[in-house]
Amino acid sequence: MLLNGVANHGKTFEAEVCVVGAGAAGLTLAMDLASRGVSVLLLESGGVKFQWESHELLDVERMGDTPERLVTGTRERFFGGTTNHWGGLCRPFDAFEFEEKPWVPNSGWPISRDDLQPYYEAAARLLNLPEVDRPYDLAALGVAGHPTLLGEFVDNLEPRVAHRAPTGRLRMGQWRLEDIKKNPLITCLLNTTVAEIHSATSGDHIEYLEGRTLQKGSLQFRARDYVLCTGAIENARLLLASNAVHPAGLGNEHDLVGRFYMDHAANGLGRILPLDPAAGPSAEEVLATRIPVGWANTPRARREYKLQGFYALCINDNLKQPLAHERAMLSLTGAPQGGHSESPSRLRKALLVNWEQAPNPHSRILLSSSRDVLGVPKPAMDWNVTEQDINSAAKSAELLSLAVAQGGRARLQIGDLRKPPYTVGGGHQMGGTRMSVDPKHGVTDMNGRVHALENLFVGGSSLFPTGGWQHPTLTIVALALRQAEFLGARHARTGS
Ligand SMILES: Cc1cc2nc3c(=O)[nH]c(=O)nc-3n(C[C@H](O)[C@H](O)[C@H](O)COP(=O)(O)OP(=O)(O)OC[C@H]3O[C@@H](n4cnc5c(N)ncnc54)[C@H](O)[C@@H]3O)c2cc1C
Repeated sequence: MLLNGVANHGKTFEAEVCVVGAGAAGLTLAMDLASRGVSVLLLESGGVKFQWESHELLDVERMGDTPERLVTGTRERFFGGTTNHWGGLCRPFDAFEFEEKPWVPNSGWPISRDDLQPYYEAAARLLNLPEVDRPYDLAALGVAGHPTLLGEFVDNLEPRVAHRAPTGRLRMGQWRLEDIKKNPLITCLLNTTVAEIHSATSGDHIEYLEGRTLQKGSLQFRARDYVLCTGAIENARLLLASNAVHPAGLGNEHDLVGRFYMDHAANGLGRILPLDPAAGPSAEEVLATRIPVGWANTPRARREYKLQGFYALCINDNLKQPLAHERAMLSLTGAPQGGHSESPSRLRKALLVNWEQAPNPHSRILLSSSRDVLGVPKPAMDWNVTEQDINSAAKSAELLSLAVAQGGRARLQIGDLRKPPYTVGGGHQMGGTRMSVDPKHGVTDMNGRVHALENLFVGGSSLFPTGGWQHPTLTIVALALRQAEFLGARHARTGS
């Protein structure tokens, strides 16, 4: 059932589980819980379509290295969330990403790739992706006749292909809207922003959520369990702003909420310049015209050079001008390239990089002293990119450049990742409510439950202890399916 919060001012709604946010995480969780017979309240701040009034609720006070585009261009506040403009690139985290790495302080997940494997497979089926880990097999990919660009004995970089979510699954709001409307176990309230989470005076569980509308009304939501799926920044903001009983905010006994905030400081890295334009195209160039393909640094190189994750993606884009981040993004999302079509030459394949930040307690989301129109303190973002992060990415780029030179078919023309235009992030917000076994090291447990609260959970990439190089959303969906199974079993046990 789909309702409008504005038409329901003053009312109280109840269900077994209350999910806040109808993006990748929230929609997946709500639908899967309902399929397990659990009743769900799904609360969404925006409407079915984009509107500026709700979008402005995303406003962020910028600090540290936080770029301006993070505020306006990287998240969406309506049904479907940021999947209303994501690129759809999917790849699971390799087993290596979950491991603790001595050269990356605060690394290591409380779950392994094996724990997540069945949910990755289920997520791939859900998103209509062919298989979880697509092998880099030139014959299977149909490019056996083309040479690759990397040298034969290169072991610092490995080619990696990703999946792209098919059109029918890409805009998750559009895909799920009719299912949500028809589902008797789901009540979805649009234009309803959760403004405060009210805990019992004992401080150990949540009693209800308070929703507010832009028309100055309020609503109450009561459930056995509550799950925040509002994106990494807003998840931390809501916990910090709900400070009536716990003055430091919910789940913040150890001053960890909002900390370890990470992003893929992605940007255009440069171009591939084939040495002999008359030679046939490489396997990577052919592949890039139809599937996302790139090179990741190998676990071996990461151990030897003490590196964080790095992925350089070949973009099917023939650029004449220096690469702008926005153009690369347009190319990724398949949007028309405008003025660049006059150069069909294959000489200028662009490279986009995702590089991993080491988890850093000083990179964080706090509360601003200013409030939004609903009276909720705005988030202040002190995003920090460290020398370690930049040096790691620059070293990986250098290894890639050497590997391509070693292949003898092309060279890379790359920019200096140590300079500010190359450290623009904002697309993949992660961390802030990281998972941990020990409450002293993270905000949530391995099921995404806030350690100190019996019935408050978090979903989405704020759970990630490290960000890897892979795009985050397939892992978000897999974690949501895992959480749905956990919550479904919990409700079957309690019979509530
Ligand atoms: C340009 C761009 C390209 C991208 N491309 C890729 C890609 O190719 N591959 C990939 O894996 N990822 C990509 N991403 C990232 C991807 O979009 C996100 O990882 C994903 O959408 C996050 O899912 P989520 O459910 O956690 O948050 P969201 O999808 O943002 O959903 C959060 C929802 O919560 C709602 N909400 C927020 N606050 C409240 C509140 N207080 N009360 C009620 N509702 C609230 C919002 O309105 C929204 O609907 C891209 C991002 C950008 C910016």
